[in-house]
Amino acid sequence: MQDRQPPEAPAVTGLQCPSCGGNDLPVWYTRKRLNKTLRMRICSGCGRRLITYERID
Ligand SMILES: [Zn+2]
Repeated sequence: MQDRQPPEAPAVTGLQCPSCGGNDLPVWYTRKRLNKTLRMRICSGCGRRLITYERID
């Protein structure tokens, strides 16, 4: 696991909030890129914004 994260909207690979450890992270919006899907989520526990990426094969 990498521990390098920008201060705002960090990219995470797992579905766990880095702030509160919660795993209830509903998707706020989805944006498709060339070879991956970006999802922004908001933690329902603390309101922190997260960005996750999913690769598209
Ligand atoms: Zn949280």
